[in-house]
Amino acid sequence: MPHGDLTADIAQRRDALVELRRSFHRHPELAWEERETAAAIADHLRRAGLDVTEGVGGTGVVGLLRGTAGEGGRTLLVRADIDALPITEVNDLAYRSETPGKMHACGHDGHIAIALTLADLLAARRDQLHGAVKFAFQPAEERMGGAEPMISDGVMRSPDVDAVIGLHIWSPTPVGDVVVQAGPFFASADEIALTVRGRGGHGAMPHLNVDPIVAAAQIVVAVQTLLSREISPFHPAVVTFGTITGGTAFNIVADEVELRGTVRAYDAADRAFLLRRIGEVASGVAASLRAEAQLEVIHGCPACVNDADITELVRRAAEATVGAEHIPSGDQRQSVSDDMALFLEAVPGCYFLVGAGNVEKGITAPHHSARFDIDEDALPIGVEVLARATIDYLSR
Ligand SMILES: [Zn+2]
Ligand SMILES: [Zn+2]
Repeated sequence: MPHGDLTADIAQRRDALVELRRSFHRHPELAWEERETAAAIADHLRRAGLDVTEGVGGTGVVGLLRGTAGEGGRTLLVRADIDALPITEVNDLAYRSETPGKMHACGHDGHIAIALTLADLLAARRDQLHGAVKFAFQPAEERMGGAEPMISDGVMRSPDVDAVIGLHIWSPTPVGDVVVQAGPFFASADEIALTVRGRGGHGAMPHLNVDPIVAAAQIVVAVQTLLSREISPFHPAVVTFGTITGGTAFNIVADEVELRGTVRAYDAADRAFLLRRIGEVASGVAASLRAEAQLEVIHGCPACVNDADITELVRRAAEATVGAEHIPSGDQRQSVSDDMALFLEAVPGCYFLVGAGNVEKGITAPHHSARFDIDEDALPIGVEVLARATIDYLSR
């Protein structure tokens, strides 16, 4: 057993780990405003003896831990996102958010605490690490904006990163389970804005006008047929129109309607195909009704695609931590998205889920809910899986 007393070591750090999570939970900061959060992270990493760089890609923080088990070796990046959400917490907890309108309602407070505890743990085991561990504390995940500037600011260089791992605490999965899967895992996400233009006029004289609302209604239906008729039945994908706005009064034909929606896919080709075909179908349907449609695509992020080898490494770490029976089998893909995808595009890696729900304790609220909470037993599990995977990856 190369990891010795790892489990006991983590158990000893449990109280500090939980307290760390609660302190970040009390003081949430929104995307790009994570200044106090970043300062607390940098301070913790420095005290653990890491080389710290602040202001990476905005409010990001990078900590570098160099192993001492010989010269050279590989570099593993551990990524944790740090931003909160614009939600007022309604939970009656001693450590509830102290800022109305801001809440760690996705578990990123836990991600920070896990990664900082991992840094402490590994700093005490430098002599077992052949290579380096780089910690990337990423801002603005909820806006899908923080990964890209960190990467363009050089987080993957000096030393060059060979692989990346990261986790998301996940309340839909019961605490004690860890979800690990190779291949596409989280979907891509892009926003679409579709403007349908007609020619407004009197609602009683439609023949003298061009009605964009009727055209928009047919576009909404026609676009759904892309999923049932043009994408392979073996390739899941989603197109959801979340808003439709237009018109001024009940008896006036509108000039223009705007539809906004989201497109999700697991395959880069499906993603590109859907974004192209939505525009073509919308224009074609609109033209058939004398209207015009114009599509604007606001690119979000690609799918999170897990590398087979790194995923196997994480699976072994998860098995050693929770047992194979606590790693759910079958297709575990999620239709949500995460800009961890950009790190996974840059180098081979694995993004995985650590269950944090608990029906008996009433911890069932969904992510991004004002009632969201986690079972804190998830925290040491997250630390242990990351620690085992990291030590394995950097063993000679
Ligand atoms: Zn979230
Ligand atoms: Zn999240």
